Amino acid sequence: MKVDGQARVLDANDRPIPGLYAAGEVVGMYWGNYTGATSVLKGLVFGRLAGTDAARRRPNA
Ligand SMILES: Cc1cc2nc3c(=O)[nH]c(=O)nc-3n(C[C@H](O)[C@H](O)[C@H](O)COP(=O)(O)OP(=O)(O)OC[C@H]3O[C@@H](n4cnc5c(N)ncnc54)[C@H](O)[C@@H]3O)c2cc1C
Repeated sequence: MKVDGQARVLDANDRPIPGLYAAGEVVGMYWGNYTGATSVLKGLVFGRLAGTDAARRRPNA
């Protein structure tokens, strides 16, 4: 899935789908050699971005 800088899932026209976030393997994975621990770190970073944005956008926030 394609996401923006706040981990919001984008539709076919690159517009965020309200309330839908993604992080981890569903937003893409490395192939071949890569720096150790970066897969888990990627999920962690985008998961935090998603949680932060979701909390900011919650009703009555
Ligand atoms: C053998 C191996 C070694 C690895 N070593 C490293 C490493 O050294 N360093 C590193 O950075 N990365 C490593 N990785 C990659 C890393 O583990 C993954 O990239 C990372 O765990 C992906 O996290 P995720 O949250 O996207 O997915 P997952 O960790 O797969 O989490 C998905 C979760 O969703 C749950 N789930 C699935 N379907 C449903 C459903 N319908 N309802 C509710 N829950 C559901 C699953 O049970 C699972 O707990 C390794 C992977 C493997 C397989």
